[in-house]
Amino acid sequence: MNFDLPAEHRMIRDQVREFCEEEIAPIAQEIEDEHRFPEEIFEQLGQLDVMGVPISEEYGGLGGDTLLYSVVAEELGRVSGGIGLSYVAHTSLGSKPIELFGTDEQKAEWLRPLAAGDELGAWALTEPGSGSDASDMDTVAERDGDEYVLNGTKQFITNASVANSVLVKAVTDPEAGYDGISTFIVDPDDDGFEVATVWDKMGLNCSPTCEISLDDVRVPEDRLLGAEGEGWTQTMKTLEGGRISIAALSTGLAQGAYEAAKEYSGEREQFGKPISTFDAVRDMVVDMHRKTERARLLTHKAATMYDDGDDVTRASALAKLDASEAAREVAEDAVQVHGGYGYTTDFPPQRFYRDAKLMEIGEGTSEIQHLIIGRQLGL
Ligand SMILES: Cc1cc2nc3c(=O)[nH]c(=O)nc-3n(C[C@H](O)[C@H](O)[C@H](O)COP(=O)(O)OP(=O)(O)OC[C@H]3O[C@@H](n4cnc5c(N)ncnc54)[C@H](O)[C@@H]3O)c2cc1C
Repeated sequence: MNFDLPAEHRMIRDQVREFCEEEIAPIAQEIEDEHRFPEEIFEQLGQLDVMGVPISEEYGGLGGDTLLYSVVAEELGRVSGGIGLSYVAHTSLGSKPIELFGTDEQKAEWLRPLAAGDELGAWALTEPGSGSDASDMDTVAERDGDEYVLNGTKQFITNASVANSVLVKAVTDPEAGYDGISTFIVDPDDDGFEVATVWDKMGLNCSPTCEISLDDVRVPEDRLLGAEGEGWTQTMKTLEGGRISIAALSTGLAQGAYEAAKEYSGEREQFGKPISTFDAVRDMVVDMHRKTERARLLTHKAATMYDDGDDVTRASALAKLDASEAAREVAEDAVQVHGGYGYTTDFPPQRFYRDAKLMEIGEGTSEIQHLIIGRQLGL
């Protein structure tokens, strides 16, 4: 078992880290305060060729593995949780399902521009009345000749206001339960598609989170992803990969918060010496390092298993549960190490803290991860 990242992964990580430090870190708080989605950063990420890391080269991606994708997501999280969230929603949720379940024509038309970074993707499962119990959805797609007509409301959809395509889950057969759900590729320019709300949130405000309404949205039958009734099994597969990306993003948030606290504790003096020399502060920083390392190990294990084709139901849930908790705890301690300054927006820990909280909610709450792991353990 080798715990070192392969050379190619280290090279791309270093390139992305340099970009993050030069281009993202200086504006990370500003875009948060302004609630501004930084289009220019995503264009540059496209030029760096990382908007389709785990998508095959045939369809404009980098052809990297899930481990490489996790490394990139972690680097983005280390400087901006919001950019990281929009990035993983675009990749794991908006792009990957088209590669996994789409036809060659759909991949050429919809996946290629996403993977190349020319367009942005989104994925719409959650509704106002159904989140954890997501299959209990009200959105319907009724067949009408060679078209489907979609009606319903989707809630908390990352990127919907800036996306060029949205993968929408809808009921095609109300009698068939899990087997009655299908996925459609919807173009936000389609008549009847509307972004009803862009939410103000406690964090991640540079990443738009939207309510969308679908009012008699007509899509041709070739916008059905996979076969009718396959939408729920696609969802499960998509979320397994998605959870690894949230774990990676969480590891990045933890790493960013840890680094900020370590640096500050070495510089800040009280009682005539650096605060890092006080046992209580040193122990906090050591524990931040320990939790971050643990989160990264679980994330890389799940990513490697995914790449090996193993069943990652338990591993991805474990990684997501642990890393999201680690991110929140480490960020909270980073605020504490910074004292009063940690409570101001002049220092990054408060941002990591607010951003980290979502990681315990999105793509399945921590309670749902416990449920999944418990089932896997036969409990
Ligand atoms: C910033 C942000 C971005 C998001 N992006 C997307 C996106 O791009 N696409 C998308 O489709 N969705 C997205 N979501 C939605 C997200 O996945 C859901 O919010 C999440 O799954 C929880 O659903 P809910 O909000 O309806 O909470 P609920 O399901 O109502 O849960 C409320 C509470 O009850 C608990 N609970 C529920 N059921 C159980 C149970 N069986 N056992 C124990 N506890 C339970 C939950 O853990 C939680 O604590 C996003 C949400 C946010 C906030």
